[in-house]
Amino acid sequence: MEISEIFKTMQYGPAPESPTAVQAWLDDHQRKFGLFINNQWIIPEGASSYPSYNPASGEKLADTVQAGQKEVDQAVAAARQAFKTWCTTPGVTRARYLYAIARNIQKHARLLAVLESMDNGKPIRESRDIDVPLLARHFYYHAGWAQLMDKELNDYQPVGVIGQIIPWNFPLLMLAWKIAPAIAMGNTVVLKPASYTRLSALLFAEVVAEAGLPPGVINVVTGSSQAGTMIVTHPDVDKIAFTGSTEVGRILRHQTAGSGKKLSLELGGKSPFVVFEDADLDSAVEGVVDAIWFNQGQVCCAGSRLLVQENIAPRFLDKLKERMQHLRVGDPLDKCIDMGAIVDQTQWDTIDSWVKTGLQEGGEVFQPDIELPAAGCFYPPTLITGLDPAAATVQEEIFGPVLVSLTFRTPAEAIELANNTRYGLAASVWSDNINLALDVASKIKAGSLWVNCTNLFDAASGFGGYRESGFGREGGKEGLYEYLRPAWQARPRPDFHPPESGSSKSAWGAHTPTRPSLPANGKAEGESLPAVDRTPKMYIGGKQVRPDGNYTRAVFGRKGEIIGQVGDGNRKDIRDAVEAAHAAHTARPGWAMRHGYNRSQILYFIAENLATRRDEFARRIVSMNAGSLKSAQVEVDLAVERLFTYAAWADKYGGSVQETTLRGITVALNEPVGVIGIACPDEYPLLAFASLMAPAIARGNTVVMVPSEKYPLSATDFYQVLDTSDVPPGVVNIVTGNRDHLTKTLVQHEDVDSVWYFGTAEGSYQVEYESAANMKRTWVSYGILRKWNSETEGSGEGFLHEATQVKNIWVPTGE
Ligand code: NAP
Repeated sequence: MEISEIFKTMQYGPAPESPTAVQAWLDDHQRKFGLFINNQWIIPEGASSYPSYNPASGEKLADTVQAGQKEVDQAVAAARQAFKTWCTTPGVTRARYLYAIARNIQKHARLLAVLESMDNGKPIRESRDIDVPLLARHFYYHAGWAQLMDKELNDYQPVGVIGQIIPWNFPLLMLAWKIAPAIAMGNTVVLKPASYTRLSALLFAEVVAEAGLPPGVINVVTGSSQAGTMIVTHPDVDKIAFTGSTEVGRILRHQTAGSGKKLSLELGGKSPFVVFEDADLDSAVEGVVDAIWFNQGQVCCAGSRLLVQENIAPRFLDKLKERMQHLRVGDPLDKCIDMGAIVDQTQWDTIDSWVKTGLQEGGEVFQPDIELPAAGCFYPPTLITGLDPAAATVQEEIFGPVLVSLTFRTPAEAIELANNTRYGLAASVWSDNINLALDVASKIKAGSLWVNCTNLFDAASGFGGYRESGFGREGGKEGLYEYLRPAWQARPRPDFHPPESGSSKSAWGAHTPTRPSLPANGKAEGESLPAVDRTPKMYIGGKQVRPDGNYTRAVFGRKGEIIGQVGDGNRKDIRDAVEAAHAAHTARPGWAMRHGYNRSQILYFIAENLATRRDEFARRIVSMNAGSLKSAQVEVDLAVERLFTYAAWADKYGGSVQETTLRGITVALNEPVGVIGIACPDEYPLLAFASLMAPAIARGNTVVMVPSEKYPLSATDFYQVLDTSDVPPGVVNIVTGNRDHLTKTLVQHEDVDSVWYFGTAEGSYQVEYESAANMKRTWVSYGILRKWNSETEGSGEGFLHEATQVKNIWVPTGE
């Protein structure tokens, strides 16, 4: 008999993994679990409980506690107390604890894997070979960073008490992504697992206690979304790290706005899986299986949007359908199955309603004729073709084993379709032409790019999203910054209390232009002729343009006298500036596509041109504020120095090669964020302007600058410096006017990727609150003044960090 025939007829026998050890562990706990606080199990008196079920069988596994405010307070207090010593514990000592946890995970690997499969429904093959090994890997990797922190990251300090909230799709892995970097960097944590999957976090807590971790460093609190809210809004929590849906991420952005808490959000996705005509089609089919049927498709970065080049689409889809006929769906504890159970009936219903929507939207649904267990939450692998790219089924995250498929003709069309989403978590590109694959990978807007592979993860490579997939990274050196604060900076405690309702509907940002009261005769002092008007216009797209509203505002001098007027910008001016910034970003070659060398030359040129006009700028600064000429000259000199600093960084912050477990190359690229809106402070009007503009444009972003509202004239004088320094039109746009009014339009603009705001505590709240609409990144001052003339506060890696986002490209090597 031919080998190929054997493959066709071969029957799999059952290969069950035994649940006995897990059942015994559950029995040891009388199937009732408390909260893990201060290394102790606490069952609060009268607390309500919540049942955990095995979704494959419906069997009840255990009861867990629903924590209330008292218990959340208790956990936060424990973490705060532990932080006092943990943050000063030497890195080498913390490393030993992380190492001990990693060893313990390995010792209990089987128990952890079986429990994970029973509680979540994922195949044992995946929990045994992927989830649990990665859990250990994360603790080993971060043990290494704890060891190195004192030397490698000595400009930083831990953030404090971290509230961590995770989803149910990778309960152990998500916990590792959050806890390992946090405690490695000297923070303490309160973690809330998802309600469907609480048990493995509780077993993990035992593993931690066994490793002898000091009490209070890790606390696990089970509870509903209300318990999540209690953690998020707790005043003694310094940072929230969240993984879950974009919808809940948005709520958290609102709740933490203006509080000074750090926030990282790992949210949803609808990741493209792009197959070119020259791909190895059989490998690509296996890739699709991994992309969308791994973990029943309940994967944030699932390749759920298949894009196939039109000429091979029929052949590819036939192969895929044939492969689907051989997928085995069944008992998660059977080592021979490909797909296990959906986590819960509610999720099953959601998936099914999406498939029905797909049908209503004109899609053709294919489900293979395979056997599904008679009972339990099982859903067949599903493929939907024939949909419009704008269909809801194509655009929205389904979070189940449902693949939608579209076609494209050219690489440009593939990129456009791939980016036609509000998300940006991951993408997979398949082609045997490595030049094409890497080019496409570099143009897709997503945090993880897999070339001829998919769903690869490792602790050494940061994971996280662009756009509405969130911000922040988990893993790699880049992920550590989420759990660090610059050594000089205290936790911001803004002097502003948001409205009770959490609404942002206030008068903030409202502005009515008024006619400035000017001298009656229009003549300068001691002159007989009317003064030659020098009112600067806006600087948009490399041109000086009149403000749209045709209003001006007065600029006052040191004695309260009017020393000039500037345009009073409005929404339309900001929109025009954003359009110009976009055009400069996307033009071919756009600003981001230019070599770092070219950008550095332009920054050096700006610095030179500013230096030659040193005294003129210094006099202007003196005329605006009450400083001395000497201090104004120092300000100009420092501004020149900042421009030199970022000219230097323009070709030295491109990224690194990550040392992952992949046989091949994983490159972390520090990509520009895109269009950044920057509202400048009133202090150091020239220096702060230069200190903010320079890092942004050095790293390939284009900017809309709102200069100091009180002292805008050094920024408007700056037009001439830009004009004489070869800065391409649209790279730097300057709109003068009421800072908060202009910022409001920037933060509400869909095409602005990030907003930096150096203004009031209320403004900072409003910027963070409003940013939730499209999840743009923000960097705000919370009304706290920064010493712009200090090297530590006015420049440095933090600025580069804000100007970039990390994309990891994975390229396996070998035949
Ligand atoms: P979810 O509904 O957003 O819940 C996530 C977590 O947040 C759970 O612990 C949940 O608690 C809690 N929660 C819900 N509402 C809350 C609120 N108002 N305040 C505070 N906490 C709240 O998401 P899910 O359904 O569990 O997970 C699926 C989502 O996670 C998908 O969108 C997926 O893409 C995303 N995900 C992203 C990544 C990534 O790295 N980007 C990784 C995995 C998953 P309860 O369970 O008690 O409701």
